[in-house]
Amino acid sequence: MIDLTGRTALVTGASRGIGRAIALALAEAGAAVAVNYRERSDAAEQVVAAVTGAGGRAIAVRADVTDPDAVAAMVKRVVEELGGLDILVNNAGIIDDAYLMMMKPERWREVIAVSLDGAFNCTRAAIRPMMRGKWGRIVNISSDAGLMGDLMRAHYAAAKAGLLGLTKTTARELAAQGITCNAVAPGIIETDMTAEMDDTRAEAMLALIPLRRFGSPDEVAPLVAWLCSDAAAYVTGQTICVDGGLRM
Ligand code: NAD
Repeated sequence: MIDLTGRTALVTGASRGIGRAIALALAEAGAAVAVNYRERSDAAEQVVAAVTGAGGRAIAVRADVTDPDAVAAMVKRVVEELGGLDILVNNAGIIDDAYLMMMKPERWREVIAVSLDGAFNCTRAAIRPMMRGKWGRIVNISSDAGLMGDLMRAHYAAAKAGLLGLTKTTARELAAQGITCNAVAPGIIETDMTAEMDDTRAEAMLALIPLRRFGSPDEVAPLVAWLCSDAAAYVTGQTICVDGGLRM
């Protein structure tokens, strides 16, 4: 049993996909959850309704994670409305395919801005409220791409690898405050992000996955919830893959 009763959590990019599953899993474990979104308020409100309908506490909070001021305002609102901030899951991310030779500098910057700058902005803003409670959990959603590289995704792989450096440094700097920081590296998970993968690539990837199937968001969320629990108090600075054995 994972018990997060009395904890408050902020999950970025939580209106759909893996972030949505994480927000629901944290709420199911008893946490009050702030569901961050950038544009789709209707989808975020549906996640909130699912949580409150099951007897939990949740609010939807708009912010573009690439904007440090918007992130600071979001964290302030979460602390005011939910009574603190104990758990941060840096999940927001975007993808975009281009071979290095053709990759536009703007796209390179944009992909890194969401995954890496976004995690930095949110982590920086969340540290003070976590320190106040002398307890905290930060989980960064990286990717197998950050560990293995990925064709046509130099920006994405670089951002996700960068997240691992951020994870380890956060873990070292904040250990004495009772705050842990870990990374989860999914393989291929069926969400909007992977929906447009062409059949040739899908078949090539499946051949590399020992479990011979792609994963679902509900297979990532329980690990994140566990990392956010007291049971994971002695785990920090780690990267855990959820990828059907793709990388081992
Ligand atoms: P998704 O596209 O369904 O979800 C990404 C979420 O991030 C969306 O809700 C989107 O609105 C939000 N987002 C994007 N830019 C944002 C911004 N600037 N500010 C706030 N929110 C923003 O994709 P997903 O598959 O659920 O991916 C979730 C995370 O998991 C991402 O970080 C992704 O890189 C990572 N991941 C996914 C897979 C996979 O196979 N699906 C594999 C490895 C890692």
